[in-house]
Amino acid sequence: MNTLIDGFGRKHTYLRISVTDKCNLRCFYCMPAEGIVWKRKEELLDFEEILRVCKIFVKRGIEKIRLTGGEPLMRRDLPSLVGMLSQIDGLKTIAMTTNATLLAENVQLLKDQGVSQLNISIDSFKRERFQQLTGRDELQRVLNGLEAARRVGFQSIKLNVVAIADVNEDEILDFVEYVKDTNINVRFIEFMPFRDNNWNVDRVLTYAEMLAKIGEKFDLTPLETEPGAVARDYAIDGHTGTVSFVTSMTESFCGTCNRLRLTADGSVKSCLFFPAEVNLRDKMRAGATDAEIEEMIMYSLSQKPEAHPPAEEIASQLNRSMIEIGG
Ligand code: SAM
Ligand code: SF4
Repeated sequence: MNTLIDGFGRKHTYLRISVTDKCNLRCFYCMPAEGIVWKRKEELLDFEEILRVCKIFVKRGIEKIRLTGGEPLMRRDLPSLVGMLSQIDGLKTIAMTTNATLLAENVQLLKDQGVSQLNISIDSFKRERFQQLTGRDELQRVLNGLEAARRVGFQSIKLNVVAIADVNEDEILDFVEYVKDTNINVRFIEFMPFRDNNWNVDRVLTYAEMLAKIGEKFDLTPLETEPGAVARDYAIDGHTGTVSFVTSMTESFCGTCNRLRLTADGSVKSCLFFPAEVNLRDKMRAGATDAEIEEMIMYSLSQKPEAHPPAEEIASQLNRSMIEIGG
């Protein structure tokens, strides 16, 4: 029975876990320009601790777990964590979001251990622009990772593209074209504000703007979305691939939110844009029982706001940066 129900009747079935705050890229919209202080190894939950927390969450009703970061593949031996999680009774899906730089060499093992859904982040197909956006000349490795993932085959492969006005808006149609003869879903994500991430409202390429631009060249048909989905999905006439828009800034989907987050250092966050956190790590290490951990999770859920504030207000909050929370 699912008991992860908040004060607004929202049932939570989806947990996103940041397994590390470290990353080998420096995407300007994610990583604060002055850098962050990396957590020491002992500050992070170890695999046994992650497994314990996940078992508690799944017992309470979580059905899907996504591994994210930082860059999840920077965490040593990640496939063995996937193998541990895939043994949890009642857990239906293990997904991962990755920048794909380290994917080619790990992808078969990840699939064998239980990852069935993969989101790959790529914001440009142009080498120089990719380097400007991410601070690293790694486009080729990302493309190799993507190709390897396609060869291995997953239940779903999605491309995450953060759409930023005057940065990569001229590539939107290229991305749509790219998925033509594939089973890939390309998702344009509206640029979201986090601590020191160069956000301002003029840089948000909106859902409406993107839809209009794509609509000039392609016929789009809205698709039914699953409950709790964060994206608006469309079929593209003549394409096997599909296109989606993550509209957090212009049309929020808070009303059907089914997500909870666990940071790499063991804090539960009930909302991406809500700074309050409940830290489980120290209590676990001090000998807390599963019942006490459950109680803390339920407390975090009880504090979940009904909706996130408008973008400008979010931008002025003292939230953690995206790289520290895990997208
Ligand atoms: N390193 C992995 C990656 O890049 O896929 C996983 C972590 S990353 C924080 C997760 C997702 O958040 C990525 O798809 C990234 O593009 C997205 N993201 C990061 N900062 C963002 C922002 N300010 N606005 C919108 N999406 C953002
Ligand atoms: Fe790293 Fe992903 Fe953030 Fe880019 S978006 S800096 S790849 S965590």
